[in-house]
Amino acid sequence: MEEEKTKGQLLAEDLLRKPKSLAEIDPGMLEKASEFCEGYKRFLSNKTEREAVEYVIPILKERGYTEYVRGKVYKAGDKFYMVNRGKNILMCTKGKKPIVEGMRVSVAHVDSPRLDFKPHPLFEDAGMAYFKTHYYGGIKKYQWTTVPLSIRGVVRKSDGTCVKVRIGEEEDEPSFCITDLLVHLAQNQMSKTASKVIEGEQLNLLIGSWPYDDEKVTSKVKLAVMAAINEKYGIKEADFESAELCAVPAFKARDMGFDRSMIAGYGQDDSSCAYAEFMAEIDTKEPEYTTLTIFADKEETGSDGVTGMRSFLFRDFVEDLAQAEGAEVRHVLRNSICLSADVGSAFDPAFGDVYETTNCAYLNYGPIISKYDGSRGKYSTNDASAEMMDYILSIFREEGVTWQMGELGKIDIGGGGTIASEISVHNIDTVDIGIPVLSMHAPVEVTSKADEYMLYKAIYAVYNSKKPKLF
Ligand code: MN
Ligand code: MN
Repeated sequence: MEEEKTKGQLLAEDLLRKPKSLAEIDPGMLEKASEFCEGYKRFLSNKTEREAVEYVIPILKERGYTEYVRGKVYKAGDKFYMVNRGKNILMCTKGKKPIVEGMRVSVAHVDSPRLDFKPHPLFEDAGMAYFKTHYYGGIKKYQWTTVPLSIRGVVRKSDGTCVKVRIGEEEDEPSFCITDLLVHLAQNQMSKTASKVIEGEQLNLLIGSWPYDDEKVTSKVKLAVMAAINEKYGIKEADFESAELCAVPAFKARDMGFDRSMIAGYGQDDSSCAYAEFMAEIDTKEPEYTTLTIFADKEETGSDGVTGMRSFLFRDFVEDLAQAEGAEVRHVLRNSICLSADVGSAFDPAFGDVYETTNCAYLNYGPIISKYDGSRGKYSTNDASAEMMDYILSIFREEGVTWQMGELGKIDIGGGGTIASEISVHNIDTVDIGIPVLSMHAPVEVTSKADEYMLYKAIYAVYNSKKPKLF
């Protein structure tokens, strides 16, 4: 016979929050999540914004999406997309309600920290050939040495053609890396602060060592490497001036842990959110409100440029949709809501002192909602209103979505921003949501499969909710 609960126990049950992990809520969830994450792992093989955009287009077409036509009046359930300069994609499913009643927007970025090449990357030193890089986004530079790297990107050649480069990941392809100093001679290096252990100008990618056989030539290794590149891609050295090339970790995304509950891979900030919102978008059939799912670029460097979220592209696109229905863009925006889908930090017990444990996120507790981000005194934060929080959370409660609230870390330790501010500037109520990540911005990042699956369910729930926005 079960013991009767005390008054205090009953009161605690009634009044106090009792966080539960996804495993406690549904022990069988890992199986469903693992299935979902097979597609996610494939998506992670795209390591630049261009690759992510290119990857989804055939899937969209298969799912009945057509290329957006400006001025066209779409009807409920119609699916369409627009690509911006090969680096952004905006995907929509037309809702039953007219667009003036608002959209349900989700934005994730598909650029990740990496090593971009300088415009004149190629040089030779001490009988070895290198590419000079300029790191993109916030990295711990020392983490990028002695790991296998692959080269990705495009080169626009002077003859008007364009070649795509994707090399260094398959078994039969050559690999590349950045060298580090042997520990035996590292006495001085080891006494430096971590930001100086490896400096920006030392991040040179080793790409060759065998000289061209000609006494009359000066830079023999450089020439031999350039000849090999020319043979493979038809590129001359001057063509690097009109190229976008970068080095990214060459690891494939894979299951992690004996229980296979996690995923280890590069670029999960923010491909985890991009994949979840993409799957929610294509699985949404006839929503009440029109969905708008965006893959953004340049988030890691401040969202500037024509493919970053600070570009007017977003507003122009919504304005075109509004005009086709005789509506004003400002009214559409005011009635819309947006999920700024970006990852958060997972509590790591090895570095427990940077977290405030009652307000941080834990692996396997579902997607994190960040009411605000920014640093110190909430500088540069969107800070979702109580009304917006209530709107989102009530949908999650109705649809059985589990979430956790999370701040990045302790108040005075640091902080970070997301694109929430670039969206709310358009007068759209916005909140940050994403999954917790371990080792964020490192060559290999770690996430939980169940969190990723639950993020998909969260975005799907918002896209498919009939709940009107009354605030
Ligand atoms: Mn991010
Ligand atoms: Mn980031």
